[in-house]
Amino acid sequence: MAEEKKFPTMREIYGSLVFDKNEMKQRLPKDVYENLAGAMEGRQKLDSGIADTVALAMKDWAVSHGASHWAHWFHPLTEMTAEKHTAFVHADDNGVALETFTGKDLVQSEPDASSFPSGGTRSTFEARGYSAWDPTSPAFIMKSPKGGTLCIPSVFLSYDGSPLDMKTYLLRSMDAVESRSLKMLKLFGNRGVRYVRATVGGEQEFFLLDRPKAQKRPDIRFSGRTLLGSRPPRDQKMEDHYFGAIPTRVLAYMEDVQRDLARLGVDLATRHNEVARCQFEFAPNFAEANLACDQNQLIMEVMRKMARQHELRLLFHEKPFKEMNGSGKHVNFSLQDSEGRNLLKPSSNHRKNVIFLSFLSSFVLGVSEFAGLLQASVATPGNMYRLGGHEAPPNIISVYLGSAIDAVIAAIEAGSPKDMPGKCTVDLGLIKLPEIVAFDSDRNRTSPVAFTGNKFEFRAPGASQAMAVPVTALLSVWAAGMEKFLQIFEANIDSGQDPVDAALCTIREASKISRNIRFEGDAYSKEWHEEAERRGLIKARTIPQGIDLYKDPAIMQMLEDMGVYKKRELEAFWAIRMESFVNSIEIEMSVLRDMIWEGIMPAISKQLMLEKNSYAAAEEVGAKDIDRWKSHIAELASLKTGLLDKMEELTELRENLVDLELREHAEQIVTKAVPLMNEIRELADAAEICMADEFIPYPKYRTLLSLSS
Ligand code: ADP
Ligand code: MG
Repeated sequence: MAEEKKFPTMREIYGSLVFDKNEMKQRLPKDVYENLAGAMEGRQKLDSGIADTVALAMKDWAVSHGASHWAHWFHPLTEMTAEKHTAFVHADDNGVALETFTGKDLVQSEPDASSFPSGGTRSTFEARGYSAWDPTSPAFIMKSPKGGTLCIPSVFLSYDGSPLDMKTYLLRSMDAVESRSLKMLKLFGNRGVRYVRATVGGEQEFFLLDRPKAQKRPDIRFSGRTLLGSRPPRDQKMEDHYFGAIPTRVLAYMEDVQRDLARLGVDLATRHNEVARCQFEFAPNFAEANLACDQNQLIMEVMRKMARQHELRLLFHEKPFKEMNGSGKHVNFSLQDSEGRNLLKPSSNHRKNVIFLSFLSSFVLGVSEFAGLLQASVATPGNMYRLGGHEAPPNIISVYLGSAIDAVIAAIEAGSPKDMPGKCTVDLGLIKLPEIVAFDSDRNRTSPVAFTGNKFEFRAPGASQAMAVPVTALLSVWAAGMEKFLQIFEANIDSGQDPVDAALCTIREASKISRNIRFEGDAYSKEWHEEAERRGLIKARTIPQGIDLYKDPAIMQMLEDMGVYKKRELEAFWAIRMESFVNSIEIEMSVLRDMIWEGIMPAISKQLMLEKNSYAAAEEVGAKDIDRWKSHIAELASLKTGLLDKMEELTELRENLVDLELREHAEQIVTKAVPLMNEIRELADAAEICMADEFIPYPKYRTLLSLSS
């Protein structure tokens, strides 16, 4: 019997490429380790005197794992990560090769910032920014075929201190939520809690295609989605994909991804097929928010690299295929205190339940006032095609709590908790609270924000987005809700109520204020859209309008009050997002133009020639009823005429767009370019189904969406 090839177990390799606490403990003097560990937990500042010692240990560790370079690894204000590699080894004056990596290298670096978007926060003549080590996320080695790079998670700032990255805002929002959470717990008399951390777990959806086939399509190559082509009618059989067996080829890919990520300390808990054909999902175990956002970037990076090795094309686009399910990144989040307690976990203990409900109500309260920020945070080009489409939440923010919690809140609000469902375990005289059991089956998958038993889930973020932006929005909104909650709560305590009663009264008030944002029904339904309109919940109908919400005065003020973004920084962020929206659709327009002229027009002409010749042959032999042939040829010809007209319109439109100011440019894209692109697509797709396969140079949906070969 052939011997089975042995792979190392996940446990053997887990975290082997991370400079984690175990590694530090072994390699650093005790006092240095303790200072560093404190900085990693955010408990104390990193003592600058130890940087050299840490750097040396880190370098030795990295070199022993084959790393030849180091880099500060950061998230510019795009959705990607960036790094500039520097070699450990350089030659001294005598030509002797030396390995160097100093404390200064570790703590601060100066990549050239000129090519990263700043939205105008940095004037162009001052092209430099600096990156600074963020010790709360551990360093790791990104392996490459001939070695590897020591990556040092960093923030990225311009010289005037304005962030040029996403992490800085995220860290600020984490502080905003933490300080208010601690205050909340203190008011409940809980003084032993040292810190409160946001926890985040992002579920990542994606498509995988056969690379050679996918590369034949310029739209997939340059835009990550199909601009032409349609799903064949009556192919409902394709729906049986969900939770079915994962194709062998994909499983092999997933296993390799999981193993590489395990080495990087990323623990992918689940993998499965998604709703659409060739669509899959990975979900990691949740982590502290900052680490979770870094890890999601790593997941995406490793997935991209591995796809190439497996001859697969990976798509993170929110809507790669027309009329099919799109891809999201569901962001699950909660708060955890220094004792490891999940603050969104219902309990059988009355007091703990009131604490749980206070944190929950604060979030809902925040959303009721600042839903616009959540919408702004997911206003990305790909989400234009996804939100409100197949299996994706609508572009309207509402919160679903589930029947158990909804009933409890309603009872508290009514002030008569006697009829509450569930088991009443504690009788506090005035108010009874049942033991709250949020059933797992009590799920509403249509809501953009849902309470799912012991955490919230934000389902609107797009698959290609960096998680930091939506997480920053969620935490800011939560902090703002807590701020308001705390004001009422404190006033109630000051008027002599005991904390639990004071909190229940606050929950009642919060729930009255925020009733508007709560919706337990089917958020996909037409009725909900009408109802949401009546409730005034529709804040933005288009992506640019969504981005505009970053400049909404109330949202700007709140973000400034929470210490997350300064107004100037929001103006800059607005510009970056708007530009990225415009650029991405501009690229799509160019690609569509090329595909029509290079592929579709010639194909129609070839088909017309074919039809013309066959018509002539039929006529020559006196075939009957060939007038029908004629009308078919005329129909095909009219599709081409239609395309010629629309392509002319496209050229004209694009000329007019050139000099427009940014916001107007975005507006024209939404109102004119996108509808025109859709019209072009309809004509091309109508032609596609009556042309010979060999004439069309682009693999069709049915070919693309098959991984068997
Ligand atoms: P679901 O069935 O709701 O998708 P899962 O248990 O599969 O739930 O979890 C989905 C994601 O939520 C996972 O990434 C998981 O790690 C994350 N998650 C679970 N609990 C928490 C929590 N307390 N805080 C943040 N994320 C969490
Ligand atoms: Mg989920």
